[in-house]
Amino acid sequence: MKKIVILGAAESGIGAAVLAKKKGYRVWVSDNGSINNKYKKVLLHNEIEWEDHKHSLDKILMADEIIKSPGIPDNAEVIRKALEKGINVISEIEFAARFTKAKLIGITGTNGKTTTVSLVYDIYKRSGKDVCLAGNVGKSFALALSKRDYDYFVLEISSFQLMGMFNTRFHTAAILNITPDHLDRHNNRFDDYVDAKFRMVRNQTEEDALVFGGDDERLSCEVINRNIKAQKIPFFSLVNDKRHNEEYNNKVYLTTNKMYIKYNSDCFDMFFEDFSLKGKHNTLNAMAASIIAARDNIRKEKIKESLHNFTNIEHRLEYVCKIRSVEYYNDSKATNVNSTWYALENFKNPIVWIAGGIDKGNDYTRLKPLVNEKVKALICLGLDNEKMVSAFEEDVQEIYHAKAMQDAVNKAYKISEPGDIVILSPACSSFDLFKNFEDRGNQFKNAVLNL
Ligand code: ADP
Repeated sequence: MKKIVILGAAESGIGAAVLAKKKGYRVWVSDNGSINNKYKKVLLHNEIEWEDHKHSLDKILMADEIIKSPGIPDNAEVIRKALEKGINVISEIEFAARFTKAKLIGITGTNGKTTTVSLVYDIYKRSGKDVCLAGNVGKSFALALSKRDYDYFVLEISSFQLMGMFNTRFHTAAILNITPDHLDRHNNRFDDYVDAKFRMVRNQTEEDALVFGGDDERLSCEVINRNIKAQKIPFFSLVNDKRHNEEYNNKVYLTTNKMYIKYNSDCFDMFFEDFSLKGKHNTLNAMAASIIAARDNIRKEKIKESLHNFTNIEHRLEYVCKIRSVEYYNDSKATNVNSTWYALENFKNPIVWIAGGIDKGNDYTRLKPLVNEKVKALICLGLDNEKMVSAFEEDVQEIYHAKAMQDAVNKAYKISEPGDIVILSPACSSFDLFKNFEDRGNQFKNAVLNL
């Protein structure tokens, strides 16, 4: 019986363990932290053995194959040793993909993955398709598959998952955008991060499609220069771009007030004002979702219905409430500069901006003009705010410091005036003061509701 070792017992590891057990493998799970009780229950229920608070190398290296959690870096000792011994180390998605007949729709990119997979799922569901949403969002692909197979899986794929993927083939792959993020996990090389994202296309054939952000200069060049067999379908917001007209038969593009979708002989359009999700970035996400659906022959009425009714997801430019004519927005998921750029860009009124946390090597240059134009006060919420302050001290007149969410929100309340926007859009990760971005966003919403 083939021996599978699962490293890391969180959402994806537990899913992989359950699926592997179901498929008749000998399964053992090892986590060098503590395993959450809810996951231990699943392991017990499925009669899967485990260890926590350590990695017993001798036992791990007996594996025929290792499924690694995306949280474990490739240079961790246990992975290096396994690779030296010639053991196959794969991701949970790669493992699960061996056991499905479904068409896989995989969506990656630096920002917009969760929003776009949720939109795609909503469109497919509305049109009656047998579809499951999995991956980084919600439950894992493997766990869903351990219950049953579907016609379509819509999968949110991170670059960490991609690094452990070799044979997975996507019926439709989407790369929404690529800007620097998580470089600490990619040898601090942007090229390595780009390569990881392009693993999406490696097993695609002429029957498959790659949907990509055509405005993204680097992404477009890579698409042209790499040997990609899949049909290439860009979405553009730059109407005058030369590539827009010349190279691609199927595409999505914008004019001043409308989105146009052209797929084979079909073409349809939709006014922005009919989109339920606001913001330029969400228009891009909607374009990607629409063309993915059009490719699977989903009727344009269903696509329009979804784009019109889809409600925003938590922590992504989420409207919280209005107090004394000041609107509060929770954008806690903005953990990098690019996502915060879209948040600030979205508003016309003066902004009180709550930002900061753990800096992942951020370059704030791109934000400065927007901050200069729109931000009336910056409230830094982090243990170490030095870099943020020096980046923006010339652009913002008022800069304040807070070490707790309620203090930051109280300050924002005090200094804001009717018509202002208060937004939490940190551009940084949350782990200095919060458990994760959800905890940070929830604390923000509670603090606002406490005002
Ligand atoms: P991901 O799953 O890739 O992290 P989300 O949909 O969760 O993406 O959004 C993360 C953050 O990025 C949010 O602050 C959101 O408002 C912003 N965002 C969403 N889509 C885009 C996009 N296409 N480009 C830039 N920022 C985006």
